[in-house]
Amino acid sequence: MTPPTAEEQVRFLTNLQRLLAEGQFVATYKYALLLALADISIEAGDDSGDVLRIPTKVIAEKFVLYYWRQCLPYIQRNNISPGQILRQNTGGQAAILKRIANARSIYGGSVALARRDVVGRKALVQEVEAIVRQMPLWKLQTVGGSQFDFLYANQGKGIVIELRLGVAFCLRQFYGLIGDLVRGAWLRYIRRHNHETLGTTADLSEFLFGSERSDLTVVREILEEVQTGKCFYCESPLRQDAIAVDHFIPWSKYPVDLGHNFVLAHNGCNTDKADHLAAADFLEAWVDRNLQHASFLAERFLTRGGTASHSKLRCQSTDYVS
Ligand SMILES: [Zn+2]
Repeated sequence: MTPPTAEEQVRFLTNLQRLLAEGQFVATYKYALLLALADISIEAGDDSGDVLRIPTKVIAEKFVLYYWRQCLPYIQRNNISPGQILRQNTGGQAAILKRIANARSIYGGSVALARRDVVGRKALVQEVEAIVRQMPLWKLQTVGGSQFDFLYANQGKGIVIELRLGVAFCLRQFYGLIGDLVRGAWLRYIRRHNHETLGTTADLSEFLFGSERSDLTVVREILEEVQTGKCFYCESPLRQDAIAVDHFIPWSKYPVDLGHNFVLAHNGCNTDKADHLAAADFLEAWVDRNLQHASFLAERFLTRGGTASHSKLRCQSTDYVS
């Protein structure tokens, strides 16, 4: 078994981008599903590039985990009203949220009590699993009315799905980036569908993930330090008057500025974004940079840029557990 090539990895990212940009999202289930697949791939710990079989029950357990905290009423800052559970569906409330909110009320919101009730929890997971198998699992990979099943085969009503060759590898390789992308999309969905609850001074973004907008001047200063003043592509010194802040993977259709997707380059070396192979040639260097400087980038983007970063992701992940 060989891991996917650089070209295949870049294709995976562009496919995922297409799924998020063009797929239909009637509920937030598909975001939860993507996060679940990434989390389960991380836990599986297999970088061989092989297929990964995932029982739908394991996916359902992740759904319960993610939505448990989101079933709390959202209360605006400086507001004395009791708040409301955020709507996660275009119509009425999503069925999974109703089930989990109901379970939450039984245990008074206590995770510890919920964990102790093995029978009750099993029943909840089974209910959620039935919805997962009926709704998002076979609908996630439909884009523009046609099948786009690059993650797993879109078939049947089985109780196990099989991630295709290389998919678990890519979900692990780009875990931080994918988590940011999916959570960003999820957040925007919630904003769009909860005007009344969120009001005009929505602090939801800050509350969950921090500000999404990044100041390119700050990004540039941070990256100049990381790249020691050299062009990401040709590695010659950068000239102050001709520096481009470049999106490494072209997220043109996807307006999220992620710190780890930026590189500094000469204007001339700024690669042609239509050519995915150009990105593939430098993929390894880009992944290495993000791993090698992970804590530096996270700290700088957090304290200065407010750009989504690895460290925020980690906080967010542990938040889900509590
Ligand atoms: Zn250059």
